Amino acid sequence: MNVLVINCGSSSLKYQLIDSETEKVLAKGLCERIGIDGRLTHTPAGGQKIVFNDPLPTHVTAVSSVLEKLTDPQCGVIASLSEIGAVGHRIVHGGEKFASSTLLTDEAIAEIEKCCELAPLHNPANLIGINACRELMPGVPMVAVFDTAFHQTMPEKAFLYSLPYRWYSQYGIRRYGFHGTSHSFVSKRAAEFLGKKPEELKTIVCHLGNGASLCAVKYGKSVDTSMGFTPLEGVPMGTRSGNIDPAILEYAAAKEGLTLHEVMNVLNKQSGVQGISGLSSDFRDLGAAAAAGDKRSAAAIEVFCYNVAKFVGAYAAAMNGVDVIAFTAGIGENDPSVRTKVLSYLEYLGIEVNPQTNKLRGEETVISTPDSRVTVLVIPTNEELAIARETVEIVGE
Ligand code: AMP
Repeated sequence: MNVLVINCGSSSLKYQLIDSETEKVLAKGLCERIGIDGRLTHTPAGGQKIVFNDPLPTHVTAVSSVLEKLTDPQCGVIASLSEIGAVGHRIVHGGEKFASSTLLTDEAIAEIEKCCELAPLHNPANLIGINACRELMPGVPMVAVFDTAFHQTMPEKAFLYSLPYRWYSQYGIRRYGFHGTSHSFVSKRAAEFLGKKPEELKTIVCHLGNGASLCAVKYGKSVDTSMGFTPLEGVPMGTRSGNIDPAILEYAAAKEGLTLHEVMNVLNKQSGVQGISGLSSDFRDLGAAAAAGDKRSAAAIEVFCYNVAKFVGAYAAAMNGVDVIAFTAGIGENDPSVRTKVLSYLEYLGIEVNPQTNKLRGEETVISTPDSRVTVLVIPTNEELAIARETVEIVGE
């Protein structure tokens, strides 16, 4: 079955058409500047990237343009829309309602709408994508795959904040965690790669990309993760602060003459390694600048790696042990020096790095030595494939 995977943001829409039998990507692309002017980049498998300046006033026109490209005699990969068997939608927040992926019925959509309050920037955009697809592909089964669902197995001690309990019971203020599709995919793949069952392993997944989070996966289930009520909590990220003393908000607001909303904007968009370095949120730029002697870029990398290592230590404690550490996402897959720095704090766990295999980028590799007490892996994540698999599982072959 061909599955169309949709990741819809407020002004963008990413898509992949995946043949679920071969798990090959037939075509992928990105609609940008929806509601502004519009730009669609479409890449058929084995072909060149093609840029179209189609006007994209709404998400319905964006989905319509995508379907047009997929079926186009020149750049298309299918003859007609009837070759799309199902659509899988990435949904950021499923609240406490969704512990797994779900078929998008009217009832499920109403429940996702209720979660908009928890993810006001993301869920409404995700719903717009769902509605646009429903309008243009009536009758095609659609599935919602949530970023939060995998973490619904976290025990209360991991998800409760030490705040008035009423804030949780009345407003849902608790830790939810994100990147669940990636943590689930990578932890399963790590077990498979090692010829083990997920139920046999205590795994720490380090999803280190522009957004970064770690997850403690005990015997196949998420028991803790570093992002919380929102994706702002946890380790420092490209532009997000990660954990800070909450008292800083009031103090900085007064010093800078900012509203709380403006301070939140700084924490989300001008902090993290971008904030410390004052240069870039991209580790390629930071690595080059640090090598050329830029002290703040070097400090940004150090702060990042130190905090990632601290979370690994915390999760080894949370699970009373760790068998596997898996690095994934842009930095985790491609930056050997970050991996080396993180792992240098973890010698006490009996970790020994293989400097040869650790040089590799972007491929499944064991980067620890055979004697290492913890197996350290690089496992490239593939959220789109995970969404396609979930979709097929829900709608049936
Ligand atoms: P992601 O959010 O998973 O797409 O990761 C994007 C981030 O990965 C970028 O902002 C970079 O910081 C990092 N990245 C990508 N490629 C490399 C590379 N070759 N070396 C170091 N960092 C990289």
